[in-house]
Amino acid sequence: MSRIETPRPIRGTQDMLGEQALRFGHVVQTFDRVRRLYGFGRVEVPVFEPTAVFARSLGETTDVVSKEMYSFEDRGGDSVTLRPEFTAGIARAYLTEGWQQHAPLKVATHGPLFRYERPQKGRYRQFHQLDAEVIGAAEPQADVELLCMADQLLRELGVADGVTLTLNTLGDGETREAWRAALVAHFEKHRGELSEDSLDRLAKNPLRILDSKDPRDRPIADAAPEIDDYLSAEAGAFFAAVTKGLDAAGVAWTRNARLVRGLDYYRHTAFEFVTDRLGAQGTVLGGGRYDGLIETLGGPVTPAVGWAAGIERLAMLIDLPAPERIEVAVVPMGEGAQALAARALADLRRAGIAADMAYKGNMKRRMQKADASGARYAVIIGDDEVARGEVSLKDMAAQTQGPVAIDALVAAIRG
Ligand code: ATP
Ligand code: MG
Repeated sequence: MSRIETPRPIRGTQDMLGEQALRFGHVVQTFDRVRRLYGFGRVEVPVFEPTAVFARSLGETTDVVSKEMYSFEDRGGDSVTLRPEFTAGIARAYLTEGWQQHAPLKVATHGPLFRYERPQKGRYRQFHQLDAEVIGAAEPQADVELLCMADQLLRELGVADGVTLTLNTLGDGETREAWRAALVAHFEKHRGELSEDSLDRLAKNPLRILDSKDPRDRPIADAAPEIDDYLSAEAGAFFAAVTKGLDAAGVAWTRNARLVRGLDYYRHTAFEFVTDRLGAQGTVLGGGRYDGLIETLGGPVTPAVGWAAGIERLAMLIDLPAPERIEVAVVPMGEGAQALAARALADLRRAGIAADMAYKGNMKRRMQKADASGARYAVIIGDDEVARGEVSLKDMAAQTQGPVAIDALVAAIRG
């Protein structure tokens, strides 16, 4: 006898049901409400793009491009990549769809992303993000608005208390070049003490050494020159305008002069909302200004700023949302009651009342189910009721029951 083996799920993917799905849904719904309060429209972009979209805009030296992308050749021989982040795809669409006419474009989305990483708590190969972007705005007010929105989202999710906004500036192009040169000089002096990874970073992306977690790198990174000594007057004024806006809006923040973020395209504002409640995966939301990105995709100079938040990490932090409850359980007794039951269910649901019915089972089983579901009412339909065009409406808490004409059922429940 042959046995068919059930295929396993792909490592680092998740199947969600019950509590986990409730948490996930609550995060998404809260985001959808908050983004409307800030005038961010919904945007949808493809789950896959030509590999060049990510390779160019994120930079070949980043961890995401060099190690984490799901890239493959499709049947036509084109190299495509499952999106590892939203920003590059939205920026591509901004150019190819002519969305420049809407600048400044304020958009938000959520959905799955794919990165080949070592799966662990809070880190998956298919994960999900909330994302918000403002494209075509050079003003610090855009940065402030996005940070206020992130702050309000965390408050409304009830997690703001355990989460801190850490903020930095990476300066403008001029600042970044000067600081980078100083960093390279500093790290060169300590070549012999750096980890292998950081030696690699020194050649390709020296800023990344600053957020290395390797204990060999830490003292050298901590002693590295700070960006403040290289900030141009313009870059300093921009950062001051952002922090002033945050203070005025009552958004708490702390400076982290070592915060660099993984991607090459950041300029000026960089930020992360971090918590110590999730172990090593403590960053729940991150973003910043990416004024250089659109040019790397062949577009005109276009200032932009945005953020992304991990839905799974937020879902782990929130209190368990209230379960989704059925208000009315319909309980038909026998075949003759099926038609009236179908009518009752249709009337209730069309009136916006959550109603459910077991597909099968005797009266006792069905009543037990109705009880377990937490329904406020049971609508019991037997032969007598069918004959009179009536149902029996039972208040589950009060344990009282009385006849109601089928036409009056919705009104009786609405009270
Ligand atoms: P990390 O340092 O944790 O790898 P990152 O800098 O790579 O994060 P971003 O690219 O800024 O992350 O993505 C924004 C947010 O998306 C993160 O703060 C995190 O909440 C979430 N995130 C990123 N990668 C994963 C993943 N593999 N699994 C689950 N969530 C993730
Ligand atoms: Mg990462």
